[in-house]
Amino acid sequence: MKANHTMHIFTGKVRRLFAVHFRKEYVARQLSAREGECHQCGTCCNFSFACPMLTRRKLCLVYGLCRPLSCRLFPLDQKDIDDVTLCGGTCGYRFPREH
Ligand code: SF4
Ligand code: SF4
Repeated sequence: MKANHTMHIFTGKVRRLFAVHFRKEYVARQLSAREGECHQCGTCCNFSFACPMLTRRKLCLVYGLCRPLSCRLFPLDQKDIDDVTLCGGTCGYRFPREH
């Protein structure tokens, strides 16, 4: 991945972390508008670096135990879905154009 892509993805991580802790209304609004479902491709677990909790079979070792909030709530908006696309994946979620 190119350096500017890595920086872009990293910025997205920080943005999500901030949102889940300090923009709770925004998060609630986004989640109620979100459609689709996770098909467990694992792309969002490999943003900028591979998460050490991700197994070779793309399973999360801490799923149902202590999975971070920012993981549980992904994706929060179209930018997050665009990040998945940038990394070569196809997220199972989508956001309607207008909400
Ligand atoms: S903690 Fe689990 S869900 Fe979060 S990035 Fe790692 S493997 Fe993915
Ligand atoms: S990129 Fe989307 S579909 Fe893939 S694991 Fe993450 S949330 Fe699920």
